[in-house]
Amino acid sequence: MYGWDSSQLRHHHLRTNNENQQYVKAERKVYQNILECVGNTPLVKLNKIPKEYGLECEIYAKCEYFNPAGSIKDRIALAMLKDAESVGVVHKDTIFAEPTSGNTGIAVGFVASLRGNHSIITTSVKNSDDKVNTMRLIGSEVIQCKVTESSTAITRKIKDADPKHVVMLSQFENDANPRTHYEHTAMEIIDALGDVDMVVMGAGTGGTMSGVGNRMKEHNKNCLVIAAEPDGSTMFNKKGKKHPYLVEGIGGSTPPIVVDVTIIDDIEVVTDEEAFLMARELCKKEGFLCGGSSGLAMVAALKAAKHRNLKAGQRVVVILPDGIRNYMSKFVSAQWMEAYRFLKPPEHTMSWWKTA
Ligand code: PMP
Repeated sequence: MYGWDSSQLRHHHLRTNNENQQYVKAERKVYQNILECVGNTPLVKLNKIPKEYGLECEIYAKCEYFNPAGSIKDRIALAMLKDAESVGVVHKDTIFAEPTSGNTGIAVGFVASLRGNHSIITTSVKNSDDKVNTMRLIGSEVIQCKVTESSTAITRKIKDADPKHVVMLSQFENDANPRTHYEHTAMEIIDALGDVDMVVMGAGTGGTMSGVGNRMKEHNKNCLVIAAEPDGSTMFNKKGKKHPYLVEGIGGSTPPIVVDVTIIDDIEVVTDEEAFLMARELCKKEGFLCGGSSGLAMVAALKAAKHRNLKAGQRVVVILPDGIRNYMSKFVSAQWMEAYRFLKPPEHTMSWWKTA
């Protein structure tokens, strides 16, 4: 007989007492506020992709999309807000203004709304409508700038127009950005894994790279820090040719103030196609529902582990900054992938014109 009767299966499960189904009493906590859920993200081992790529080393993903507003930026928005509060510049009528590729905007809007403050977010039209819609839903006013305009310059104008009320947390310059990764993100990795041989991440502001990279090297001076750079960006890869690329949140022309370039051991350049195909593979094969910059960092990690000949037992940590929610209208859609020729249309969708 084929198939199964669901009622039988249910009883079978009720009677089974194997390890996977047993209820394990864990320490559980009720949170008093969603902001208490920022950080302490899972570190999860990859089980398929490294082996398929011919690697014996272990690769772990730091799944930052588990943060409550959906990205690694929840950490810095909270840290920068706390700093601003501690020096007394935040009031009930404060308006937060911030230039962003979207995630910091979501995170700043999120903490501002919870406090009852207004926020104005400036972002390039390059960045996804999925992020813009989230920001607007949370209550932020979003200004979309042309690709050729500077969102930072526009935000400064907003601040200059009303310096009494507008506060710029300035993620590109604010020391709380790298500090929160140094004090928290990196420490979570060290607590979970101890010594790590390589950490891999992209850089937008470079806060993650400076904070995580410096702390990991302090813990183990042999830990390599690999910068994952989009093809088309010249932030670190000075030999590269500058051209537009589609991956969001990382890269640029020059390193921002918060990046400590001295900690970078190597740069791995990754194309849009490689990044988006990898992000889709991570969703399908490892169950990491992550964004495009995560795919890009993972490709960089695989390349770097191969170039450096990492062996069994050595450990690599890759930061996955955000999740697929931000890209539902982009690489998550097979049609979008096909439009950019990153995927071939499946045969069946072509058959109508072949036979016509
Ligand atoms: N990935 C994504 C999707 C991001 O939005 C950002 C931040 N712009 C990063 C990576 C890079 O983080 P950081 O600013 O700490 O370099």
